[in-house]
Amino acid sequence: MNRLSVLFTSSEVYPFAKSGGLADVAHSLPRALSKDCNIDVVMPLYRFVDRKKYKITATNEAFEIVMNETVYPVELYGCDYEGLHYRFVYSPVLCDRDFLYGTAEEGYADNALRFALFDRAIVWMLKNYAYDIVHLNDWQSGLVPLLVLEDKTIQTKTLLTIHNLAYQGTFDHKILHEIDVDEKYFTIDGIEFYGQLSFMKAAIAYADMITTVSPNYAKEILSTEFGCGLEGFLKHHKKKLAGIVNGIDTEHFSPSDDTALTAPYSDLRGKAKNKSAYLKERGLIGVRKPLFMFVGRFTWQKGMDLLIEALPKIAEHECNIAILGEGEEKYHSALKAIADEYDNVHLEFGYDESLSHQMYAAADFLLMPSLFEPCGLNQMIAMHYGEIPVVHGVGGLADTVGEYKKFDAKTNKGCGIVFGAPSLYALLKAVDQAIKLYADKTHYNTVAKHNMGCDFSWQESAKSYLGLYEKTKQKRSYG
Ligand code: ADP
Repeated sequence: MNRLSVLFTSSEVYPFAKSGGLADVAHSLPRALSKDCNIDVVMPLYRFVDRKKYKITATNEAFEIVMNETVYPVELYGCDYEGLHYRFVYSPVLCDRDFLYGTAEEGYADNALRFALFDRAIVWMLKNYAYDIVHLNDWQSGLVPLLVLEDKTIQTKTLLTIHNLAYQGTFDHKILHEIDVDEKYFTIDGIEFYGQLSFMKAAIAYADMITTVSPNYAKEILSTEFGCGLEGFLKHHKKKLAGIVNGIDTEHFSPSDDTALTAPYSDLRGKAKNKSAYLKERGLIGVRKPLFMFVGRFTWQKGMDLLIEALPKIAEHECNIAILGEGEEKYHSALKAIADEYDNVHLEFGYDESLSHQMYAAADFLLMPSLFEPCGLNQMIAMHYGEIPVVHGVGGLADTVGEYKKFDAKTNKGCGIVFGAPSLYALLKAVDQAIKLYADKTHYNTVAKHNMGCDFSWQESAKSYLGLYEKTKQKRSYG
């Protein structure tokens, strides 16, 4: 069989630009797929991407995109990095910004225009290179299926992965004109969403195939609770919807040769040195006390309100708590007030990849009280580093974390403490369970050791994507 040729599009790719799990997936999934298909990855060349470090250079491809009689110049750049070919779209409107999408409080006002440009540049590539499949990720690539459909010369099939349905790229209807999208698509079966234009809905409507990042989330988004208003529309397109669980890059997240760690380790005992180094550096006391950690975006999705309510009560226990992240201002100040009051709560603001690795290596438990979680990577990274996650059993957390009380050493599923409702009572009860489990060293070690031995790599999921690419290629038209 001929190797498929795939263009993988993402608005963020680690290590060039990252705001969350999408960047990790856009880094590691194409690497896993590249063993069995020819794959290029394309992203915007934001001005903060380090061109020198990654040897990103201009190709001789430059063109203009005209929308609403305005001309936008586009240049394509490229680099080879760790065995993959990356393409970059540079256009001043899209790229000359300080952030990817705006601040945690507010997206840039012209995001529709920015990503319409990105999408039209992707379509330019599809016209000029013979890709079998374009694998689109989230709303930022949402117009591509519609544009492909309009251009009868393009044979490429479109597959959309929804990483988080809460971010839909909805904009004022007026923008249609500015981005040159025909009014005829602005219907209930098309791109119209409660009087606005929705990039995500456009992609759902016209993509040949849709996936989400875990089987459970694929079911959840068909319900009112998790469908973000698109549940009915998704049900209508259910035939082309599948759920494939994310993996992690086990080379990048590898406790045995992780250069960010004080002492890389290949068995559970090796965590001790990392824990004492971390506690010492951060002025925390008590290597024998359980260390809980939280890392992530400070936003309501991650259960921040619940965590902030619970933290003072958790901190009353004999334990330490380490928090790293950034996000909404109201959460920053609430967390800071708690960290100021409790000596055993250590808080660091910002995005710090190395520090997050050190925390995964040091901590005994990961707290993840997300209200919803399409897949979640933190819990898999944590288990891979020999931690036990304490999670709300929702979305991908339910798919990837089994209940430690029903622990079966023969399965490849990691284990943790899974609570059923995002309530203060349930979270505190789960933390109590964690503290009791920690006191039972033999039991704790058995579960943590099992977690360290599980396979969280992309291997199986990459196979599922390949199968889906083949199936999508055979499709005659969307729908
Ligand atoms: P999201 O909803 O943000 O995409 P995921 O669990 O899918 O959440 O992925 C989060 C990824 O980002 C993980 O690799 C996590 O370790 C990392 N991460 C999140 N916040 C930070 C931070 N402040 N510093 C370092 N890494 C972070």
